[in-house]
Amino acid sequence: MARIYNFSAGPAAMAEEVLEEAAAELTDYRGRGLSVMEMSHRGDLYQEIFAETKARLARLFALPDGYRILFLQGGASLQFAMLPMNLLAGGSADYVHTGVWSGKAMVEARRFGRVRLAASSEADGFHRIPRQDELNLDPKARYCHITTNNTIYGTEYPYTPATGAVPLIADCSSNVLSRPLDLSRFAMIYAGAQKNLGPAGVCLVILREALLEEAAAELPTMLAYRTHLAGDSMFNTPPTFAIYMVGLVAGWLERQGGVAAIELVNRRKAALLYDALDRSAFYHCPTEVASRSRMNVPFTLADPRLDALFLAEAAAAGLVGLKGHRLTGGMRASLYNAMPEEGVARLVAFMEAFEREHG
Ligand SMILES: *Cc1c(COP(=O)(O)O)cnc(C)c1O
Repeated sequence: MARIYNFSAGPAAMAEEVLEEAAAELTDYRGRGLSVMEMSHRGDLYQEIFAETKARLARLFALPDGYRILFLQGGASLQFAMLPMNLLAGGSADYVHTGVWSGKAMVEARRFGRVRLAASSEADGFHRIPRQDELNLDPKARYCHITTNNTIYGTEYPYTPATGAVPLIADCSSNVLSRPLDLSRFAMIYAGAQKNLGPAGVCLVILREALLEEAAAELPTMLAYRTHLAGDSMFNTPPTFAIYMVGLVAGWLERQGGVAAIELVNRRKAALLYDALDRSAFYHCPTEVASRSRMNVPFTLADPRLDALFLAEAAAAGLVGLKGHRLTGGMRASLYNAMPEEGVARLVAFMEAFEREHG
């Protein structure tokens, strides 16, 4: 069976090599006679996998001293609530509103304190990222929250906001490890795994340990970051298999040359598609050029009545997952790390042929 090119926004494509590696050791992990799924999370064998996974991630992120890696459940969506629950506690936090996910993060934060809108691109249809000089920052904010890549609208921060002494916290779900990130500029980042890191079921959280010095004390055990730091993500049973898969993805990424190397590939992939969109009068990309995401590329056809045909013919050509989000309509091609350049080249060739026929 031939693999398709999967442009889905998430859960998203995974490198074939990673899937093959997992398949090869699925029933018998390295001659031990059992699957990773069947291992005690506290046993030596799984502890080795866990330590290796963290070590790979620490290398890929160039993890600064004082930062810790956590594997939590509940997706990025639980972090929308867990963050303010732990760190807002009646205070005020700045949020930059750049789309659906930042909106959901703000809804949860309002339950625990004051949410100040530091900037919003809502009036611009979320087609751009506010510039540093547009950020109205409160120097007394408990933290400032951004969404580094907006999966639905296809925008991505081209810069890391300077927030002075205010801890910067970011939802990096859809561009984590796609480009270098200077973690020392962030107090915490989080990312659901199912876009760039592995399968659904685990959420990566990286935080500066000192951030928790002022964290709320009386929280349900499972919702306190302190619990998971103290238990090294093993206060309770973690999603063992998903974490193992994240480890395989991290190993694959290291073999690609790491984050700086994959960034070059991601730049080329995005340029290939955006150039094709910009050359064409048949396709249109709504996002501001400076804010364009390398990970999620939304576009529309000149005649939306052709959308269904476009999707059907694309699928027949082995190009799937291109339907845009229901809020934006049109199309969206997600070009996460695991999407090979060949897949994007095939998509562009298909789009040009479709335009010649129907444009
Ligand atoms: C997908 C996504 C989420 C939601 O992730 P879940 O793991 O499903 O909760 C949050 N933020 C961003 C930016 C996303 O792309």
